[in-house]
Amino acid sequence: MSDTTLSGARALTDEAAGLDAADELRAKRAAFALDDAVYLDGNSLGALPTAVPGRLADVITREWGALRIRSWGESGWWTAPERIGDRVGRLIGAAPGQVVVGDSTSVNVFKAVVGAVRIAQARGAHRDQILVDESTFPTDGYIAESAARMTGCTLRPVVAGDVPTAVGPRTAVALVNHVDYRTGRLHDLPGTTAAVHAAGALVVWDLCHSAGALPVGLDAHGVDLAVGCTYKYLNGGPGSPAYLYVANEHQPRFDSPLPGWNSHADPFAMDPAYAPADGAVRGRVGTPDILSMLALETALEVWDDVTVEAVRTKSLALTDFFLRCVGAYVPAGRVESITPAEHGRRGSQVALRCADAGEVMAELVRRGVVGDFRRPDVLRFGFTPLYTGFADVERAARVLADVLAGEPGEDGVTG
Ligand SMILES: *Cc1c(COP(=O)(O)O)cnc(C)c1O
Repeated sequence: MSDTTLSGARALTDEAAGLDAADELRAKRAAFALDDAVYLDGNSLGALPTAVPGRLADVITREWGALRIRSWGESGWWTAPERIGDRVGRLIGAAPGQVVVGDSTSVNVFKAVVGAVRIAQARGAHRDQILVDESTFPTDGYIAESAARMTGCTLRPVVAGDVPTAVGPRTAVALVNHVDYRTGRLHDLPGTTAAVHAAGALVVWDLCHSAGALPVGLDAHGVDLAVGCTYKYLNGGPGSPAYLYVANEHQPRFDSPLPGWNSHADPFAMDPAYAPADGAVRGRVGTPDILSMLALETALEVWDDVTVEAVRTKSLALTDFFLRCVGAYVPAGRVESITPAEHGRRGSQVALRCADAGEVMAELVRRGVVGDFRRPDVLRFGFTPLYTGFADVERAARVLADVLAGEPGEDGVTG
């Protein structure tokens, strides 16, 4: 680094220290198992909350090992999907009774899209199109395509921002991502939802990259259905169960395409005829994955004294600061941010387009800055305000600049 960049770096280091000292979420970091690495991959797999191993040990040795089958009732296993669903609901603006936890996001996309098409078609009008965000995370698109074939619909990929103008009298459902997983662009949930409703259709939002990172307001904005995963910003652990939101007004007509026995009105009647339960329970399928689910429940306790609004404020400060540090340290033109600069359009990550991005990320990880690489040329950095600090952000940008400049790392090895 030149002398001027060095003094600039000192200013940014000082600024980071000040921001960390004033950060009201700073103490939350201690609730997570972390090391010296700067972990900026919580948008792919959230860090481990330290309360989880002890809780899981108790679930395994006492609830399963000693109580065995009694735990379905005595340990609250049977009702865990709704109980934990309400906990997730608080973080996405859903009043109790509308969210159920279980299965993967992929499976919940299927339930939500088919269920929403059935509701739209039962209204009488001829509706045979499903709109899908064209740059969606692939699983949503694959499943929407299959859901379209099963319901006699055609699938129309559109740019997420164009859904309000693309929706029409033939649209049954629009499946949209709240935040784009690649660019970090935040889409207009209130406006898009209103436009879809004005056309008489339903909207299914995928909240994988927004839940736990920013306020969603499902009830406030009249969202119909929503899905999301819990292993990103909600830190539930690898493959932790996803969730399904079905708004109160739609629950009586929600006709699940996977009506397993757990969603039956009286599951232990073992009735050969299916009769759906009322409420969020209708979104359940089979026996819940209790170990993962209870790990998630404990992980969510981290949120007990935190508001999503505070997390959002810090998230924007972190991404702003990262972009400034990158601007100060990285030679002009070497990377290009594809994440919107405007706060109202930004999720909780920064995606930088960069030549040789795969090798650059491998070297960053080797030097203790963990983001990820999305082909062909994107460096992705996710910011989890519960455990990421401003000094981490400054260090990440500085190490990125060193790697791009071919400067050796601390062990003297050039990457
Ligand atoms: C992470 C993510 C998924 C993951 O789906 P799984 O079924 O959990 O593998 C789906 N959709 C989006 C938009 C995601 O970001």
